[in-house]
Amino acid sequence: ALQLKKLVKRFGDHVVLKQIDMKVAIGEVISIIGPSGSGKTTLIRTINMLEKLNDGEVVLFGEDFIQGHEKPNMKKVRSGMQRIGMVFQSFNLFPHKTALENIMMAARYHGTTKEKEVCRKQALFLLNRVGLLAHANKYPHQLSGGQQQRVAIARTLALSPDIILFDEPTSALDPEMVGEVLKVIQDLAKEGMTLIIVTHEMDFALSVSDRIVMMEHGVIQVDTSPSDIEHADESTPELLRMKRFM
Ligand code: ATP
Repeated sequence: ALQLKKLVKRFGDHVVLKQIDMKVAIGEVISIIGPSGSGKTTLIRTINMLEKLNDGEVVLFGEDFIQGHEKPNMKKVRSGMQRIGMVFQSFNLFPHKTALENIMMAARYHGTTKEKEVCRKQALFLLNRVGLLAHANKYPHQLSGGQQQRVAIARTLALSPDIILFDEPTSALDPEMVGEVLKVIQDLAKEGMTLIIVTHEMDFALSVSDRIVMMEHGVIQVDTSPSDIEHADESTPELLRMKRFM
C-alpha cells in the first residue's frame, strides 16, 4: 500500500530521519516504538505531508505522491493526503462543533459525497461504530478525553482513508480511558484496515501488530514480528532489548 524510500528530514543541522526505508502492505498493522526524540512522530508526519521532506519519496499505491527534493504534483499530493487519515495525540476536534458535526464536516469536505443527509447518516453510523451514538450532540468539552479521541477516530474514518496513521493516540489520556481507545483501534485492525501506530503501549503493540518497528536516532534499528520479540533471548540481543524496552 505504502512505500517509503530513503526519507530524509532535517530540522536545521539536526538530521531527524536518516534515509528511512519501509514497506507497508495492504491490511498490515505496524507499530512504531522507540525512545523519545528518535523521530517517530516526524516519520508519520512526513508520510502525511505535515512535514516537508528534504529527500526521498513516499509512494502510495505505486504512485509517487510526495517528492521532497522535486516539485510535488499537487493534485497527487491532495488525493494522497485524502487517502491517508491521521489521528493525533491531542484529538484536534473543532471545539464549537458537536461530535456529530465534527464528523459530518470531514465527511462533507473529504468523503465520497457532499450530500448533507448522506453525510449525517454516515456520521451517525461512524459514531455508533465507536460506541458514541448517545453522545452525538455533545460538544468536545462535554466529552471525556477517551470519548473525544473516539470521535476523532470516527472523523478520520469519514474520509474513507486507505491507511490511518496514529500518533501516540492514548498518551494524552487518563489511564482509565486508554483501553476504550485501544479497543477501537484493535477493531479497525481486525477489520483489515492498514494502520501505522506510534505508541508507547507495548502490550497493545504486541497484541495488535503484524510488525513492530523500533526507531533510534532517526534510523530503523529493528523491524520484526511480535512473536520474534516474545521469543527473544540472549542469542538475539537487539530483540531482547526491545522486549525489555517493553
Ligand atoms: P516522542 O516519543 O517524544 O514523541 P519522537 O520519537 O516522536 O519522540 P520526534 O517528535 O519525531 O521524536 O522528534 C525527533 C527530533 O526532531 C527531536 O530531537 C525533536 O526535538 C526534533 N524536532 C521535531 N520537530 C521539530 C521542529 N518542528 N523543529 C525542530 N526540531 C524538531
